[in-house]
Amino acid sequence: MAYLRCIGCGERTAEPSGWQQCQACGDLLEAAYDELAWGTTLTPAGAAEWQRRWRERRQSDRREDRSGVWRFRELLPILNEGSQAISLEEGNTPIYELPRCRRQSGIAGLWAKHQGMNPTGSFKDLGMTAAVSRARERGATAVACASTGNTAASMAAYAAAAGMRSLVLIPSGKIAGNKLAQSMDYGAITCQLDTDFDGCTRVLRELLELAPVYVVNSINPYRVEGQKTLAAELLEQRDWEVPDHVLVPGGNLANSSALGKGFLELQAWGLCRRVPQISIIQAEGANPLARTMREAGGRKLIEVRAETRATAIRIGKPASWKKAVRVLEATGGVCREVSEAEIALAKAELGAEGIGCEPASATTWAGMKRLVQEGFIGKQQSVILVLTGHTLKDADYVMQFHEGRLLDAAETRGWETALAAERRRLWHLPARAEAVKQALDEAAADTLAQ
Ligand SMILES: *Cc1c(COP(=O)(O)O)cnc(C)c1O
Ligand SMILES: [Zn+2]
Repeated sequence: MAYLRCIGCGERTAEPSGWQQCQACGDLLEAAYDELAWGTTLTPAGAAEWQRRWRERRQSDRREDRSGVWRFRELLPILNEGSQAISLEEGNTPIYELPRCRRQSGIAGLWAKHQGMNPTGSFKDLGMTAAVSRARERGATAVACASTGNTAASMAAYAAAAGMRSLVLIPSGKIAGNKLAQSMDYGAITCQLDTDFDGCTRVLRELLELAPVYVVNSINPYRVEGQKTLAAELLEQRDWEVPDHVLVPGGNLANSSALGKGFLELQAWGLCRRVPQISIIQAEGANPLARTMREAGGRKLIEVRAETRATAIRIGKPASWKKAVRVLEATGGVCREVSEAEIALAKAELGAEGIGCEPASATTWAGMKRLVQEGFIGKQQSVILVLTGHTLKDADYVMQFHEGRLLDAAETRGWETALAAERRRLWHLPARAEAVKQALDEAAADTLAQ
């Protein structure tokens, strides 16, 4: 079974009520294990046997077996025997080839793992199934989070599935409308606060003094356990062949931490021989980790006032920064930042592959182009981009981009030609076939002109 331990002082602890942090030193908690179903490490034959069982579960009719998280339950023994997980059959998301991006970058081994194909449209579902299942096991009747939108949408859905109440604190006017709509649809008590994400987090901590809610923000160590199964699922899809690089966007930095924990544990337990280099990409306007690495060698958090249109990563004071620094150091990855123009361009380029994602997710493709240019990613290497959310989460962004209303002149400078080439035109025509034919001809001319 799992126990919790502090990442700072190492103190072993029971789960605290209220804000989940070490009672001795205030640092983050993580789940740890002395014994797994198979002991601690596996022989190659033992590993192959577990890999076969996990794959077979996909054919089962049981929801825990079909879930891309609980199918790997031996990797996260966090629920008591006989406890039922709250699952919406999360995970099992596709890996897509990116032929256009491959040609452009010259990297033949390039794929996207699309976490936007989860039940509520983002990777948050992997963590939420774990955290809400724990909450219900503990007898909590209400869960709560501060959110940039997707955590709220996911929590509201899983709480509804568990028959629990949920409370959402979001920054007023600073989240994508469709995420807000999901929160309402799934029945959360939804509060927009006149502050940013970091302010919402502060209010949630204060609220704990007044109301006993179970916090499912990503400081919740069980959420990280659900999210780490992405590593196992990804390797399974590649027949357990480890890629050289995995790129992931960085906001509150729980996802990158979870991914690193997942790979490092799989290696320690004998399920893979090496780990990929995990690199984290941030938006220029919300770059606390990039600055922390560059200016403080990863030793002290440099907080920023976050501003970016990629609202899912609009975070200036990331809770899991220490865990993320350790993942960068343990896997040899780097943190980079990309501009608003690079994000918008990358998103449109992925879109042109038939792969829609959120602006925050597109940072990975933008960041990869930089890392190839730097020579950090070599031409013969294999790269997985983690696309964290679905394009329908933020359709406003898409329309603003194509109508040329998204970026201002200063942001566009230097990128005019590249951006113009990706901007798709919306035709408004009289209802006559001739008009449509003319549009077809013009569109064909546009394509040829490029
Ligand atoms: C939450 C989220 C992120 C950021 O993940 P962190 O764990 O906060 O770093 C990135 N993209 C999307 C779509 C998200 O919902
Ligand atoms: Zn401690």
